[in-house]
Amino acid sequence: MSKLILIMVDGISADYFESIRHQLPHLDRLARSGTQVNGVTPEMCGTSCPGRTSIVAGVAPSEHGIYGNHIWDGEQFRWANPEDVRVPTLPAYAKAQGLDVAGLGYGMIRPQDCSLYKGPWWVDEMLMRGRDAEPMPADTVWLSAGADYDDQGRLAALQAQGINLEIVAPNKNPDIKLQLGMLADQQLLDVAAGLAASAQAPDFMLLEIGITDYFLHKYGADHALTEWSLRAADAQIGTLLERLEQASVLDRYNLLICSDHGHAPMCSGLYVDRLLGDEVVWSSEGGVLMVKPRDQAQAIWVQAALAEYGIELWNNDHLPPEQQDQLLTFVVPEGSDISFESQIVGASGVSGPSKYLSNHGMRPGSRADMRFCIFNGPAIPRQRIESGLANQIAPTMAAILGVETPWQAEPLFTPLTPSNTSIECARDSAE
Ligand SMILES: [Zn+2]
Repeated sequence: MSKLILIMVDGISADYFESIRHQLPHLDRLARSGTQVNGVTPEMCGTSCPGRTSIVAGVAPSEHGIYGNHIWDGEQFRWANPEDVRVPTLPAYAKAQGLDVAGLGYGMIRPQDCSLYKGPWWVDEMLMRGRDAEPMPADTVWLSAGADYDDQGRLAALQAQGINLEIVAPNKNPDIKLQLGMLADQQLLDVAAGLAASAQAPDFMLLEIGITDYFLHKYGADHALTEWSLRAADAQIGTLLERLEQASVLDRYNLLICSDHGHAPMCSGLYVDRLLGDEVVWSSEGGVLMVKPRDQAQAIWVQAALAEYGIELWNNDHLPPEQQDQLLTFVVPEGSDISFESQIVGASGVSGPSKYLSNHGMRPGSRADMRFCIFNGPAIPRQRIESGLANQIAPTMAAILGVETPWQAEPLFTPLTPSNTSIECARDSAE
């Protein structure tokens, strides 16, 4: 068994990483000296909740149930939450098999599947009616997934060493949200460094650098501020590595650094509420639209209304079997920059500017949807892999950690063990 730190860096496509890696010395070195996957396939939809879930679930959305940021719960489309995940995830298997699992700000995992847990800093965005006297059940799940679970007092011990456990609240300070998001990411990495250096260092830590996605949405990929957000992420990861080195634990940990989805310019909005009216129930995931038609007549009308804008009916393979005949899935035309959304203030007509410069949830098959993925550490061979499937990430982590799972998908590679490490080292020195 070998230890592992997962850091999900939000929204970084394989191609964006390639285009900017010369500015990212730490990630560039990790990619060159470890295993770099040139692109991991996205989920359908390639958005945050499905992507985060697939990283730890080892199966497709039709099986794990998180096929969109919003899912149909029988009455409405609402934010997906960790209790909606229909299968055990890698943290659950790892904990059940005796590993010490620390969830430190990673979304879409359940606190009870970790031995130590801190909620993601962005949880308040997932609350639909969080201020109600009686939160709706889905809000209750996110409220509890936003809390700390530290029954052995391990976080409190870090606090005593001067590590700040009060993570800042970016969403409560909209004017400086991006800066605070960057700080929140850093604070959670600081907690990870403290735990790794402690007497009880976790076997498996799950983290996120979430703010990169917000910069991409607001400024697009070709903006100096977006580049800076990724350079800051690189520096934060470098700082974590340095702290592990100083604590003499760096050689105990492997790293997986990957994204939940890609990003692409989608600057044209198609205002679905204007186009379809208040009667139609729908959910937007960027360039993917899901509709719950009231009846057959409405289904036919919706298809015709959307067809006028070149919007195509797609298959429902990403949905759990019992929902496949309940919903309709639509995608934007090939090469389109349309994002499905509600009208924005001041816009007239059914189309106009999008809320975001860049977005996710692309038409399936878009290259910009492919995710970057880097493994590095004592169990990781030096190699480049042309492409990987979304459901291979979790089996690869399971193989590194030595966790048994029932998954059919194969790991992306066989981790090195002390017996085959010497062969790899001999090969490296011969190069
Ligand atoms: Zn995301």
